[in-house]
Amino acid sequence: MSYLPIFVDLKKRPVLVVGGGHVATRKITALLKVGANVKIVARELDSPLHNLLEEGKVEWFATEFEPEQVNQAYLIIAATDDNGLNNFVFKSAEAAQRLVNVVDDQPHCSYIFPSVIDRSPIQIAISSGGAAPVLIRLLREKLEALIPQNVGEMASISGRWRNAVKAKFPHMTQRRRFWEKLFTNLHFQRLTETHQTAQAEALLEQELEADNPIIGEVSLVGAGPGDAGLLTLKGLQAIQQADVVLYDALVSESVLELVRRDADRVFVGKRAGKDCVKQEETNALLVKYAKKGKRVVRLKGGDPFVFGRGGEELEVLKAENIPFNVVPGITAALGATAYAGIPLTHRDYSQNATFITGHIKPDGTSLKWEALAQSNQTLVVYMGTIKAGELASQLQRYGKPADTPVAIVSNGTLPNQSTQIGTLSELPELAANAPTPALIVIGEVVKLQPQLAWFGSQAQQFISTQETLWNNQLEKCA
Ligand code: SAH
Repeated sequence: MSYLPIFVDLKKRPVLVVGGGHVATRKITALLKVGANVKIVARELDSPLHNLLEEGKVEWFATEFEPEQVNQAYLIIAATDDNGLNNFVFKSAEAAQRLVNVVDDQPHCSYIFPSVIDRSPIQIAISSGGAAPVLIRLLREKLEALIPQNVGEMASISGRWRNAVKAKFPHMTQRRRFWEKLFTNLHFQRLTETHQTAQAEALLEQELEADNPIIGEVSLVGAGPGDAGLLTLKGLQAIQQADVVLYDALVSESVLELVRRDADRVFVGKRAGKDCVKQEETNALLVKYAKKGKRVVRLKGGDPFVFGRGGEELEVLKAENIPFNVVPGITAALGATAYAGIPLTHRDYSQNATFITGHIKPDGTSLKWEALAQSNQTLVVYMGTIKAGELASQLQRYGKPADTPVAIVSNGTLPNQSTQIGTLSELPELAANAPTPALIVIGEVVKLQPQLAWFGSQAQQFISTQETLWNNQLEKCA
């Protein structure tokens, strides 16, 4: 970050503007809106500035600029069409350690004016530090459309009632819940949209007096396989409202980045061999936080109901009468294959897809090998790399051809995603070298991978193959 974004209170504070033309007028209008005490140094003034002068809103020094004039100002703006003079103002301000902005001349600015979305008292300031003004304009248009007009009204009401709400709810969590509930109340939103401020405040007062007890709840949220862009909107909403987030080892850094800054993050990843104890501890934590009135998110990699033990955790909550909801996520079988370029079904190769776990019982009886060995289907194996040898030999024993294509997708949807391709007989060897987490895909659809890979380094390979093809064609034409 090269600039520190701050909001400055200029009420009744002197600001020196050098220049009296239309550029100066634009800046002065903005300064007057925030109550600054504007002093203009200029030989002549444009007529709008004359009007302001007559109304007593600005002061005018009809002299040449003198370096010592900067000493009386908090901020300085140079807005003349004389580069030499602007430069002189810049240097004088720098020497006196005053903040200075030469309009439209970023190298001569010790501060810059951001682009502002104004929903007073809410203001959103954006800037690219001069790098991409057009991009900033486009962003601003998007934000203008996105941010409802009534948020300013809501914020003003909130400002007036802050102390009363604080007195009623001494704890931060309670206050946050009260405000979240009010701001998302459709009736309150409607009243503020239509400027029925008195009615909106009456509703607030009514809610404040209602004395609804704060009950904790748990959202079981699927974080998806890694890429934060695959999180659902509901999942995002849940993790941004959470007081506590309990997350697994499979939840990616980029998804965790989206958790509200002041929420507690609790890692409840599993360590091999200590599964049972850990799961009980996690269950106990969920109950403990929810009973404290917290809004808890249980964040799991992929989808919470696909090999995620989500159901078991909900059973515990149900038994404790704790309210819960479930936000599905993109499971690894969908995310990792999509990003690897392996369609799970295909008219020509596979009419169904089966998701299985590689946590096979020692006698192998937990899986219906005969059915799994049939053709025209895709098998997706979660947690399968450790048992890859057994998996490959059982499938072959039940008739799956040794040359059936297989893929292992590691770190699916993450920047370090990698895919290894081979045949069923090579599976144990491939699995031994695969980084984890890894998903095994078995079936004819894997043949499509080299053509359809589009993400990460394998896509690059594909592009270069394509380029070679094109180049060969071009050579032939020549
Ligand atoms: N609930 C999760 C699965 C948990 S089981 C889901 O719906 O995806 C853990 C297994 O999921 C891992 O052993 C691996 O096989 C698979 N997995 C999870 N994330 C993955 C990823 N990003 N890439 C490849 N496999 C992944």
